[in-house]
Amino acid sequence: MPSQAARAAVITTGDELLRGFVADANTRTIARDLRADGIELQRAQTCADDQPAIEAAIRATDEELVVLTGGLGPTHDDRTAAAVAAALDLPLERDPEVVRVVEGRIRDLAAGRGTDPGPLMVGVEKQATLPAGAVALEPAGTAPGFIVEAGGRLNVVLPGPPGEMVHAWRQVRAHPAYRALAGRAAGHVEQVLRTWDIPEARVAGLLEQLGHEDGEGCRVTLCAREGELEVSIRGADARLVEERTDGLARLLGDHVFARDEQPVAARVGRMLAERGLVAGCVESVTGGRVASLMAAVPGASRWFGAGIIAYRTPAKHDLLGIDGALLARHGAVSAECAAALSAAMVATGTVDVAVSVVGYAGPADQHDRHPVGTVFVAVHGPGGRHDVLRRWIPGERAAVQERAAVAALHVLRRHLDGC
Ligand code: ATP
Repeated sequence: MPSQAARAAVITTGDELLRGFVADANTRTIARDLRADGIELQRAQTCADDQPAIEAAIRATDEELVVLTGGLGPTHDDRTAAAVAAALDLPLERDPEVVRVVEGRIRDLAAGRGTDPGPLMVGVEKQATLPAGAVALEPAGTAPGFIVEAGGRLNVVLPGPPGEMVHAWRQVRAHPAYRALAGRAAGHVEQVLRTWDIPEARVAGLLEQLGHEDGEGCRVTLCAREGELEVSIRGADARLVEERTDGLARLLGDHVFARDEQPVAARVGRMLAERGLVAGCVESVTGGRVASLMAAVPGASRWFGAGIIAYRTPAKHDLLGIDGALLARHGAVSAECAAALSAAMVATGTVDVAVSVVGYAGPADQHDRHPVGTVFVAVHGPGGRHDVLRRWIPGERAAVQERAAVAALHVLRRHLDGC
């Protein structure tokens, strides 16, 4: 029998995170990697730049791996190394090798900028003072992260800026002490089913129909995001996980669009490339988000031709020639307008297939025809084939826009399925 997966805790530090100035990006990155490495993240929390608070958070963890980020800089409010030393009852020691590395970094940075490195050297001693027994990581900036095995667990301390954090975290993931924890989960398998356009409650109902959600060594979790749902099925018995996944996939039928983590835009891109087609989009309510999701896929120039944001009603007429009478009769937020926009985009000759999206993102509900959250997506493809979808998306403005953009990509994906 494989042994239990190792358990981890993440502690991010920084007043800027608690005051809402900066969104926590580090927990997300670390959580994804831990999951990929078969380590169970049990808890994640954010602490102020306050030594007693950080110390208390470390003392309160009983996981075998604790990952902290932030507070390794040269200033007085960077207190993580001191908090780790205190929580683990370790003395702080100056590491001469770290002094050498950080001084070298500062000299290189100053030379690159053509400035005097002198004033930046004041923080070096502080940054090179680490808990006894700590192994320093090679820094991307000037803040060196470190690993220290103490208190019955592996303590990992990383710089706060996400780019520097990733550089140090990569080294941790290759470290033998971390690999030993990741290796504990060898034999644990995970499969995912991703669905679109099916309510979470319905999937939960289907899970019950299968017998029971958890149990028989299988853990099943649901995660909803942007109208998509990710069902994760994991456990130690590969055969059981496979059986449960296949059973659920059969019940979910056409709603399953992927068994991997690839974003829907990348999937659409692959389908277009395989068919030798170039796609475009016409956006109103999403203000360019569909184009941005497509352009985010590496190699998108092979299959993404153009995007037009025709936001105000007159722009739909002026840029794409949508008939004023149609707009007056049905309104700009209508299946008819969406269909006319995608057809007009294909008629430009620039793309083979086009998706359009119109709707009301709110918050003000000033529309007599449809409530806020109503969106229409239309796809016009080769051979004149048309698909139109109407949905009502609850939530505030940004959520409606994001989910509408993802919906547009899914309607395009379904259209391509039939090409
Ligand atoms: P530095 O030497 O750059 O100060 P540091 O380890 O002390 O490194 P912090 O001072 O804690 O890092 O954070 C520096 C900046 O990095 C913050 O102002 C913030 O912009 C960003 N940052 C820190 N933590 C996070 C996080 N969890 N998610 C996103 N950004 C973060």
